[in-house]
Amino acid sequence: MLNYYMPTKIIWGKNVIVDNYKLFSEMGKKALIVTGRSSSKKNGSLDDVIMALKKGGIKYSIFDEVEENPSVSNVVKGANSGLDSDFIIGIGGGSPIDAAKAIAVIIKNNNIDPRELMFEKTVSSALPVIAIPTTAGTGTEVTPYAIITDHVNKTKKNYCQKVFPKYAIIDVKYFLTMPKKVRISTAVDALTHLVEGYLNINANLLNDYIAEEGFRLWGESKNYLNEDIIQENIMEKLIMSSTLAGMLISQTGTSLPHGMGYALTYFNNIPHGKANGVILKEYMKLCNKDKVNKIIELLGFNTLEEFGNYLKTIIGTVTITNSEANKYSETMFNNKGKLKNHPYDVTLEDIYNIYINSLNIGE
Ligand code: NAP
Ligand code: ZN
Repeated sequence: MLNYYMPTKIIWGKNVIVDNYKLFSEMGKKALIVTGRSSSKKNGSLDDVIMALKKGGIKYSIFDEVEENPSVSNVVKGANSGLDSDFIIGIGGGSPIDAAKAIAVIIKNNNIDPRELMFEKTVSSALPVIAIPTTAGTGTEVTPYAIITDHVNKTKKNYCQKVFPKYAIIDVKYFLTMPKKVRISTAVDALTHLVEGYLNINANLLNDYIAEEGFRLWGESKNYLNEDIIQENIMEKLIMSSTLAGMLISQTGTSLPHGMGYALTYFNNIPHGKANGVILKEYMKLCNKDKVNKIIELLGFNTLEEFGNYLKTIIGTVTITNSEANKYSETMFNNKGKLKNHPYDVTLEDIYNIYINSLNIGE
C-alpha cells in the first residue's frame, strides 16, 4: 500500500516573503513571530517578515528568546508572550520552528497544562503555523514534529502531536549566513534523515524516490560543504535535499541514530546533526546491504568505509565514557517508538556496540 500525506504548501524563490505578503493576511489579524536570539536579525528574514506584515496591516509581537533545543519552559514562555495571536510564524533553524509549533499547540489549548499536552493528551488542534527555515537540516518546515527538550525526563521528545506548517517559505539568501560549523552539522542532520527514512520499516516506493533524489543532491554538494563560503547554487541543492528529507521522515519517522543522538545532545552538548552523524556508519552496518550500497553509490562514494571517513573529516568525533555508553544504550533500548521504525530486531548489545564502535570511549 502506498500512503502519502504532506499538507504543507511550499513557496520557494527569491524575495518570496515580501512578494507574498497577502498570504499572511489570510492567516488572521495578529501574528506571533517566534525566532532565535540573533540569526534572523542578521540574515534579513526577520525584517522581511515585519515588512510583509506591515504591508498587510497585521499586528504582531516577537518572541526572540528561543534556545537551541528548546525546553518546555522556553516554549511556555513564548506562548505566554502572545496568547492573543491568531497564527504563529517560526523563523530560523529547527529550534525556533519546532518552538513555533509547540507554541501553536499551547496557545490553542490554553486550558490544558503544557506538560500534560506534551505527554498525555493527543489533541490535534493548533494555531496555524508558517515556517521560514534558515538552516538546511531538520526539514521541520515540512514535518509534523516539534522536538522539545524535557528536563524532567532528561531527554528530547516530540511535542505530542502533528503540526504540519500551513506554509513553508524558502529563500536561499537567509541560509548563506550560516557559519561553516552550523552548515555542516545541519547538512549531516538532513543526510541522517535520508538514511533513517530510506532504511526504515515504513519505507515504500514513493518515499524511496524522494530519498534517492535527496541522496543524489547531497552527493553533489558534499565536496563544497567544508568551504568557508558556500555558493548559492550549492546551498540550494542542500536546501532541496533537506526539504526532501523532511518530506521523507514526515512519512517514515526516524529510528536509531536519532534516538541514540538525543543523549549525546542532552548530556554531552553535541549539536543535533553531529550527534546523529557520528552514529551513522556503524548503524548502516545493521541494515539492508542492497539499500546501503545504493546510498553509497548515490552519494558518490565507493564503500561504506570511505563514506565513514568522509563524515569523520567533516564532523569530527565525540568522546564519552563507558558508563555513559551503557546508560545511553539502555535509554535507547527502552525507546520503543524509535526502535519500531528499524526493520530488524536490535539487542541492547547491538546498541552498545554502535556507540563504542562509533565514538571514542574515554575514562
Ligand atoms: P538550531 O538549534 O535551530 O540553530 C543552531 C544555531 O544556528 C543557532 O545558534 C542559530 O542562531 C544559528 N542559525 C540558524 N540559522 C542561521 C543562519 N541562517 N545564519 C547564521 N546562524 C544561524 O539548529 P537546527 O539544527 O536547525 O535545529 C535543531 C533542532 O531541530 C533540534 O532541537 C532538533 O531536535 C530539531 N529537529 C526537528 C526536526 C523536526 O522534524 N521537527 C527534525 C530534526 C531535528 P539563533 O539562535 O540566533 O537563531
Ligand atoms: Zn534530525
